[in-house]
Amino acid sequence: MQKENCIFCKIANHEIPSHKVFENEEVLAFLDLSQVTKGHTLVIPKQHADNVYDLSSESAQAVFATIPEISRALQQETGAAGMNLLSNTGKVAGQSVSHFHLHLIPRHDKHDGFGAKWEVHNEEYTAEELATIAESIKNRL
Ligand code: 5GP
Ligand code: ZN
Repeated sequence: MQKENCIFCKIANHEIPSHKVFENEEVLAFLDLSQVTKGHTLVIPKQHADNVYDLSSESAQAVFATIPEISRALQQETGAAGMNLLSNTGKVAGQSVSHFHLHLIPRHDKHDGFGAKWEVHNEEYTAEELATIAESIKNRL
């Protein structure tokens, strides 16, 4: 299902042009307009989902099934030393387009344009607290 006024639905539907790198029945991969690093690619399900919470298992499977092959092609093309796979969910996490997408960002070094702040808080959680958190999450599945 397409969503009205969704820019990625329009791209998936070929109503708006994109620099496509992969396409099948369910999935489209195309270059991000704002290339964080050369080859920065977005992979989307053609079926609209606002974000990961909204994504069907079928769409998730279809998207993720394409990731290793696209990643290998990007790595070979760019000679990247690494790759970040990123999906921003919600404004607080930096999501600006409300159609699920996975960023594939080829990485060269720590100062190549991409960075994630990664503070660790190990000292704030005891093993018992971690066990309780894991159990509570598990009980929701
Ligand atoms: P987000 O901020 O939601 O994680 O990522 C959205 C991405 O979509 C941004 O990196 C932005 O550059 C990209 N983007 C927004 N509009 C377009 C567009 O019309 N075409 C392409 N190729 N990328 C877009
Ligand atoms: Zn959409």
